[in-house]
Amino acid sequence: MYKLLTPGPLTTTDTVKQQMLTDHCTWDDEYKAITQQIRKDLLKVAQVDENEYTAVLMQGSGTFGVESVLTSSVGPQDKLLVAANGAYGLRMAEIAKSAGILHTVYEEAYHCIPDAGEIERRLKDDPDITHISIVHCETTSGILNDIHAVAEVVKKAGKTLIVDAMSSFGGIEIPVDKMGIDFLISSANKCIQGVPGFSFIIARREALEKCAGKARSLSLDLYSQWKGMEEDGKWRFTSPTHAVLAFAQALKELEQEGGVAARHKRYTQNNQLLIEGMKQLGFQTYIASDVQSPIITTFLYPEHQAFSFPEMYRFIKERGYAIYPGKLTDADTFRIGNIGEIYPEDIYKLLDIFKEYIALQEEHA
Ligand SMILES: *Cc1c(COP(=O)(O)O)cnc(C)c1O
Repeated sequence: MYKLLTPGPLTTTDTVKQQMLTDHCTWDDEYKAITQQIRKDLLKVAQVDENEYTAVLMQGSGTFGVESVLTSSVGPQDKLLVAANGAYGLRMAEIAKSAGILHTVYEEAYHCIPDAGEIERRLKDDPDITHISIVHCETTSGILNDIHAVAEVVKKAGKTLIVDAMSSFGGIEIPVDKMGIDFLISSANKCIQGVPGFSFIIARREALEKCAGKARSLSLDLYSQWKGMEEDGKWRFTSPTHAVLAFAQALKELEQEGGVAARHKRYTQNNQLLIEGMKQLGFQTYIASDVQSPIITTFLYPEHQAFSFPEMYRFIKERGYAIYPGKLTDADTFRIGNIGEIYPEDIYKLLDIFKEYIALQEEHA
């Protein structure tokens, strides 16, 4: 048994896991009511009004949700601008390419946030662009993109805004309506602290209505999924019942904790303790502190040559925690997530394990 210090799936509570001991029938009224309650609760987390927005649940991992939105909302006459500064931004471009969606990519370096002014210029230069997609917390590096500034220029230009808030929704306040986001995607196994099995989309009703008949896939058709679910809470195809029950419990526990504000505070505290402690041990962060998210942190490998990530990983795992490899192409790094059922005492324990590991290394040197 070990705790996960990763970008998800995360360490969940025992009470969330216990929900998965029940087998539920998918067309049972009680089960359908759970789906409807989840959809309602998600709108609250997103700070939106039911008359303006709706929530759609989609089978599969987070990528399925992103693919569902891109392939259902960007029509044959439309053009997508993808702002990318990491693997998940680039994945959106890959989805567009594979679906034959007309698109263009504004690529930034992984340690830089996409610039709203640059997006504004590109919208002016290319009036064919109708949709803009961007990642909120780029889990690749842990950088937090300024979606507020981006939303402002996108809304001013009257375009559709798609935000991949996979690793931030529930852990960072996102006033979806106030910001004018048209589609926001997240998944069950990130900051809401459920288990893997489905993604969800917070959609502006008006934008979702326009998706009718546009889908380039049958199972990922967002509009049809919505219409089906809207009737009585029934998923179009087999739903991940155990993951849905766990998620309903996770939403209750988010509320009990004090909502997104309280969770954000805990994550931020975890993150600050982690970064301070790691710096004291000689590790440097890859992302500058002013754009570092409170979700996951990328650390550079230490200078000395003997360093082996797999060896360090094993050492830490044997002592109760799983950390994560890096995902950068230009630097040797590893990542430590601090979301999920993780508290400051876990961070202190982890730092002690690192200290022990470094002492052993120095002994052998
Ligand atoms: C986790 C994550 C995804 C989805 O990844 P899956 O492996 O498909 O669940 C997408 N975008 C971001 C930013 C993520 O952190």
